[in-house]
Amino acid sequence: MTEQRLLLATTNRGKVRELRKLLRGLPLRIEGLEKYPGIGKYREIGKTFEDISRGKCLFYSRKYPGLVLAEDSGLEVEVLGGRPGVRSARFSGPGASDEKNIQKLLKLLEGMPSSQRRASFVCVATLGGQGRLIKSFRGRVRGLILTEPDGKNGFGYDPVFYYPPLRKSFARLRPEEKNLVSHRGRALRKLRRFLEGYLKNK
Ligand code: IMP
Repeated sequence: MTEQRLLLATTNRGKVRELRKLLRGLPLRIEGLEKYPGIGKYREIGKTFEDISRGKCLFYSRKYPGLVLAEDSGLEVEVLGGRPGVRSARFSGPGASDEKNIQKLLKLLEGMPSSQRRASFVCVATLGGQGRLIKSFRGRVRGLILTEPDGKNGFGYDPVFYYPPLRKSFARLRPEEKNLVSHRGRALRKLRRFLEGYLKNK
């Protein structure tokens, strides 16, 4: 296998950390967007994780000479009809932060029993190259929204996302433990298997 370049098309540091771990060992020179300040910024357009993941991938792969991995992810809360969904990062409005997003979510679910606190994290990761989409991969993990934050690891909504099989919030998991069960881990393991074959045939 020859070494290729792959651009991680995200500026979210939490995602970059997880993605780098999940791609470790592949014959790829992984680069981040910070290396290409003039490349431009993708404006999210679309109603689904698929739309945005593919849109982002196309945008950057038209400007970057190697492979591009873009992903869109977020939290879907059943009782909120799937919100915040693709708006997870901006849920609390302009100037949103992880803390403000969590506070807004907890307020909306105030007083609700655990049967109404079911939620999933979803991730759609898309691989592209030379201005073309190659393939998208989806991962989902189901859990419950806690009544208050618990734990310091991870990012985003991790402190309020309780994962019943491990009886812990995602923010109480070590990074490797989270990657084993998370939406991003699930999508990226599928992408990784595909990429191994793809790179062999290059
Ligand atoms: P995106 O950059 O539009 O894909 O935003 C994704 C948002 O969804 C993040 O900013 C987080 O708020 C949330 N999110 C996605 N994945 C995770 C995760 O693994 N843990 C916690 N929050 C996540």
